[in-house]
Amino acid sequence: MQTGKIGVTTENIFPIIKKFLYSDHEIFLRELISNAVDATQKLKTMASVGDFKGELGDTTIHVSVDKKKKTITVSDSGIGMTSEEIDKYLNQIAFSSANDFLEKYKDQTNSIIGHFGLGFYSSFLVSDKVEVITKSFQDGAQPVKWTCDGSPEFTIEEVEKESRGTDIILTIDKESKEFLEESKIEQLLKKYCKFLPVEIAFGKEKEWKDNKYVETGKDTIINNTKPAWAQKPSELKDDDYQKFYHELYSAGDEPLFHIHLNVDYPFKLTGILYFPKIKSNIEIQKNKIQLYCNQVFVTDSVEGIVPEFLTLLHGVIDSPDIPLNVSRSYLQSDSNVKKISSHITKKVADRLNDIFKNNREEFEKKWDNLKLFIEYGMITDEKFYEKASKFTLLKNTDDKYFTLEEYENLIKENQTDKNKTLIYLYSTNKTDQYTYIDKAKSKGYDVLLLDGQLDVHLINQLETKLKESRFVRVDSDVVDKLIQKEESRESKLSEEQKEDLKSVFNLKAKSKEVFNVCFETLDENEAPVLITQSEFMRRMKDMSQIGGGMNFYGELPDSYNMVVNPNNKHVIKISEDLLKEVGPKLDENNGERKRLKEEIEFMEKENKKKKEDEITQVEKDDLEKLRKELSEVENARKELLEAYGASNKVVKQLIDLALLANNMLRGEELNTFVKRSVELL
Ligand code: ADP
Repeated sequence: MQTGKIGVTTENIFPIIKKFLYSDHEIFLRELISNAVDATQKLKTMASVGDFKGELGDTTIHVSVDKKKKTITVSDSGIGMTSEEIDKYLNQIAFSSANDFLEKYKDQTNSIIGHFGLGFYSSFLVSDKVEVITKSFQDGAQPVKWTCDGSPEFTIEEVEKESRGTDIILTIDKESKEFLEESKIEQLLKKYCKFLPVEIAFGKEKEWKDNKYVETGKDTIINNTKPAWAQKPSELKDDDYQKFYHELYSAGDEPLFHIHLNVDYPFKLTGILYFPKIKSNIEIQKNKIQLYCNQVFVTDSVEGIVPEFLTLLHGVIDSPDIPLNVSRSYLQSDSNVKKISSHITKKVADRLNDIFKNNREEFEKKWDNLKLFIEYGMITDEKFYEKASKFTLLKNTDDKYFTLEEYENLIKENQTDKNKTLIYLYSTNKTDQYTYIDKAKSKGYDVLLLDGQLDVHLINQLETKLKESRFVRVDSDVVDKLIQKEESRESKLSEEQKEDLKSVFNLKAKSKEVFNVCFETLDENEAPVLITQSEFMRRMKDMSQIGGGMNFYGELPDSYNMVVNPNNKHVIKISEDLLKEVGPKLDENNGERKRLKEEIEFMEKENKKKKEDEITQVEKDDLEKLRKELSEVENARKELLEAYGASNKVVKQLIDLALLANNMLRGEELNTFVKRSVELL
């Protein structure tokens, strides 16, 4: 027997490894099995080039747990190690055979597992003692056993071992007892080793016999050595991709499309990404993208490696070029990772473009489920926007789909306003905004349906990208003003009459929403009263709801325009009735108002002729008094008009009809409206 000290400078490297290197102790199993796979692959590569002439035999890697002895054993039939190799590879940390090997077999390196860092030494994360019993593939090699208890001292001795390869035996420490549970090991194997390229056996298959499960003599193989992404796209059918999806995720709807990634240069990357059906919401994605390194599972949190919008996709990415034992922030700034990320973005966009070009019908059919993903990408990723703007679709209220370019051509003629701005009309709810959509259509306009979660953000972006364009919700103004053209119409009511009606219609002043009464000279056949909400206000409020940092707007009350049409016969009739019923009182108020205004004007003129200090206090007080009187008279007029409005059933009816058309009449108000309608019939 030989003893020695591991070639590290610090006496106590293991506690340091334990503490800093791996937050996840469980990765020891991944490391050991990766090494076993590595040793097996090396032997296979040697056999393929004739450097190994012996029998490969069964190369299955066996994992077993002995709860009584507190051991976990990983056995392979790979190249094994001579005692010199043990010294070189295990006793000198960071000294890896990979370099020597890569040098020698440069052209067959595809199947060689990459580095994970300290690999083998991670077994001390969970063990009191590690034994390595190994026999090299070389003719006449002497089997040896290396033992180490976690201190830098080790022993090495000659032993008996029949078969080629390596057994690693871990004696699990007290704190790591959980790893002696078969179920725990099974779970870890399924997590990390599901797609390793060499068969891995753990436990025996069970069969239903005499009313219970009994073990058969057959090993349970826990992995699929040829996962779809590691195969050539030309060898796979759609069906294979679907099957593989369900192998990755036991639950989940059928995906819409897949992309098979296969890059050799300037970095190596393979993988399959699936587009899931994304419903109305950016749900928390249960089926996350899994990251592999040469078929060894690394992680399923790929934030930082792929752009955020791509994390909505499902599937696998496999690359030996992603540095794995580094922090996330380092990952994000790594130039390889950046290249990988933009490459994936490009591939995804290209694939979508292909489907769009070659099978538009299918693309349209799936659009509603794809839309959220594509919009998310367009909003958050400039490069993706550029590509996606060629195939992203707009859907109108007749369920027809258009590209941005097609849509622009459709509406250019009819929806360009007098300032040469192209107006995109849209609705967020076909039912609620039916009246407005109908009006716009009857003017020959087209109305888009933008009812998606990200649509507000998208239109903000489109407005900055598309030249001279504006998106206007169909109910944000009366139809004539949605798209302003050079045309003017005469109002049948005078300014004064309108001013009075403003107060008459100011009935909703005390409700929690704010209604601002205004006049629009519309056609006489247009509705008497319309409710609209300014595009700007509404969009700000919508954004604050999604959480766009617009909280200030979120707290404002909802404000609407109550647009009165002075050419509608009902409105004219109200104006006439007003004159009939309270005309004398209004005249009296008018006379008073006129007198006060003239007096004030006169005094102000006089004052202007004087210097500031020549105006006496008495004069100042008089003027102040007159102004106060005027405002009282004006208030009285307003009250008179508002009282008239409040007593006038037709006014109320017209306002309620407008609210009703906007889906804003509910509960008690609706009840009152119905009763009043019956009365008025
Ligand atoms: P890495 O795998 O990154 O090279 P490790 O510390 O995991 O680093 O392993 C060090 C070296 O020990 C490996 O490169 C390999 O040469 C050797 N080794 C480890 N496990 C085995 C094994 N099961 N069979 C043969 N050689 C092994």
